[in-house]
Amino acid sequence: MTQNLPEIPDTLVNVDVIGYSNFLVNTGATGTKFLKEIRDNKKIMGIKCPSCGKVYVPPRLHCPTCFARMSEWVKLSGKGSLTSYTVVRYEEPYLPKQPPFAYGIIQMDSADTGMAHFLGEVDLDKIKIGMRLEPVFKEEREGSILDIDYFKPSS
Ligand SMILES: [Zn+2]
Repeated sequence: MTQNLPEIPDTLVNVDVIGYSNFLVNTGATGTKFLKEIRDNKKIMGIKCPSCGKVYVPPRLHCPTCFARMSEWVKLSGKGSLTSYTVVRYEEPYLPKQPPFAYGIIQMDSADTGMAHFLGEVDLDKIKIGMRLEPVFKEEREGSILDIDYFKPSS
């Protein structure tokens, strides 16, 4: 399930920070590869620590547990489970969507960490911890975590 993928070019991708748009951040080589896989291939990739074996999604350059440098990319199934969530029912000018909407932490299958994203195509009163989810990608993708429109219930 794991493989080493070719190195990516030095060109970096700038991204909107979810929930606080209009900020541009440099994602570094690891984050850039992660976003390019989403943009170009609709794939959410993990990265595996060579020391402790943990798989991180979203990926990072160094393992926060044992500080090893990571470079082994892991192909994931594309599905995951909800580990926590909140439903936003109030309106504030900085919110990225019109309430009510839900954010969640999704732990992709084979990963040891979770990623935050929106939940969609779901009754907000029927969201459950552990529910199976899969990403819905935007048609027009530009190298942002928001190229994933949201995660929807899956079987
Ligand atoms: Zn580690």
